[in-house]
Amino acid sequence: MERNRLVIAIDGPAASGKSTTAKLVAQQLGYTYIDTGAMYRAVTLAALRNGVDPANREEVEKLAFHLSIRFQPQADGSLRTILNEEDVSREIRSQEVTKSVSAVSAWHGVREAMVQLQREMSKEGGVVMDGRDIGTVVFPDAEVKVFMVADIQARAQRRQVELVGNGKEMLVEDVVTDIERRDQLDSSREESPLRKADDAVEIDTSSLTIEEQVAIVLNLAQNVREKRISD
Ligand code: C5P
Repeated sequence: MERNRLVIAIDGPAASGKSTTAKLVAQQLGYTYIDTGAMYRAVTLAALRNGVDPANREEVEKLAFHLSIRFQPQADGSLRTILNEEDVSREIRSQEVTKSVSAVSAWHGVREAMVQLQREMSKEGGVVMDGRDIGTVVFPDAEVKVFMVADIQARAQRRQVELVGNGKEMLVEDVVTDIERRDQLDSSREESPLRKADDAVEIDTSSLTIEEQVAIVLNLAQNVREKRISD
């Protein structure tokens, strides 16, 4: 791996600001952004479309190993998610997918298939990856590890702005319930639960602007690079 091209892992609960930050950090560094949540969402969409019950471990795992999931980066830094050669970027954000994604992503085989893909996508280094288990499981040796948190009101408001932007209406109370339910499932599962890696830097984004969040992560990356040069 080229010495200066780092792996930057950004984990944290739902709507804590991970993906917006990760996308911008990747853009600034000329790195690849990988949205691992989109991958679990794509598996969930495939399960729902094929009439596979998210609770049916065997069927869900079989499906996960036979899917083709890749990303197509856009000029504005965003990613299109391609499932079996179909652009599903919009469909994976639906309420149906959001409701079932934590159940699907809890299965061992699903995680095994996705982690394998995530590592393949990062072979050359120079990636910013966001998710729940990047610093703990996917890249325990990542050079930069960040754990983003924010209070529930800030997270719900951000998620609501995003939903309205996508033409979807939802009460803030319902957004809160949805986020809390998903965090609870993601943190309490047996396989790769959501948790901060011991060596991750925690950033509370509740009252930070996006520019501030990006600057903190860029600064951490810069420190690692300078340290490598001076070693
Ligand atoms: O990041 P996003 O909220 O889109 O993730 C959707 C869901 O995918 C999470 O609630 C979690 O269940 C699952 N996920 C995961 N591990 C990751 C990324 C996402 O289990 N690395």
